[in-house]
Amino acid sequence: MSKSEPTIEDIKITKKDLDEIKSLLKSSGSTTESKNRIIKKYAGGVCVSCGNVPHKMLIHDADGAKVIERYCNKCFQKWKRHN
Ligand SMILES: [Zn+2]
Repeated sequence: MSKSEPTIEDIKITKKDLDEIKSLLKSSGSTTESKNRIIKKYAGGVCVSCGNVPHKMLIHDADGAKVIERYCNKCFQKWKRHN
């Protein structure tokens, strides 16, 4: 199986959405489950590495099936250094 380069796309979250996420996170307590649910609503999922709000989407093509990984800016920089 060949490893192909993933497609990298920006996840567009407006400043307004980001503020809403922050205030929702503040009022929802701090369980991972509720945090994930809130972020997922806006960004489709959380950063696979740290669980925060993602900013980049990596789309891997695994034998015709699309596998999507989301990364925040910080983890994306780390990912870039290792790839
Ligand atoms: Zn992260």
